[in-house]
Amino acid sequence: METKERRGLDTETELRCRHRKCPRCMLCWDGKNTGCRYLACPLRGKENKCDFVEWIDYKWLPMFQKVAASIWEVIGKFKKQADEAQVDLLAAIQLRNDVYEEKEALLVEKVEWTREKESLIKEKESLEREMAMRTRLARTTCSTLENRIMSDGNDKKMLYGLILSLFGVIVAVLLAVVFKNK
Ligand SMILES: [Zn+2]
Repeated sequence: METKERRGLDTETELRCRHRKCPRCMLCWDGKNTGCRYLACPLRGKENKCDFVEWIDYKWLPMFQKVAASIWEVIGKFKKQADEAQVDLLAAIQLRNDVYEEKEALLVEKVEWTREKESLIKEKESLEREMAMRTRLARTTCSTLENRIMSDGNDKKMLYGLILSLFGVIVAVLLAVVFKNK
């Protein structure tokens, strides 16, 4: 990382990086030389920088370098755990969202089923009504036909009665004529 104190390019020295550019003053913030300042390539981005390095501060004693390195190791472990915890958290959030979406979908399906059930019940009711109406109509038609047949029967009986009585009258007239002629 860049230092706050000697910010910017180092123009005081004759030192140049491999790009022949004035180096930038940096503060080491990783590994065994943490806290030591150094001069490095001024270009931005890891892929553009050359490997020029010139230490400004003396490097730490070997004992302290070990301590610094182990501190970074511990930090690395914590970071990894934090990342894993974050991954777990994200997975839990995703799972919760999935469950929520599934619940929503089930609710929508339930509503649709309820609607379908209602429409089926309505259809059934209208069919029952139609059926009852047809039954009534059929009964009415049947009784009308029955009545007509019965009255037809009565008419026929009356006709027979009439024919019979006419026949009786004719026979009586014929007999009277026969007896008169004798
Ligand atoms: Zn360079």
